[in-house]
Amino acid sequence: MNVDKQMLRIPCPECGKVIEETIENARREMKVFCYSCGAFINVDAQYLKRVIDDISAT
Ligand SMILES: [Zn+2]
Repeated sequence: MNVDKQMLRIPCPECGKVIEETIENARREMKVFCYSCGAFINVDAQYLKRVIDDISAT
C-alpha cells in the first residue's frame, strides 16, 4: 500500500471543519490549509508518525 496517498483527517482548531489532506502533502508541508476558514493547521509530527505506522501495519 502506498502510505503517501492515504488521507489524513485533521479537525481545524479554528472552525472545527475536518480537513482531508494526503499524507504526502502533510509530511512535506507539516501543515494543512483549512479551506473553510483560511487557517493553517500545524501537523503534529507524533500524530503523523502514528498514522503512518498504523497504515503500514495493515
Ligand atoms: Zn478552519
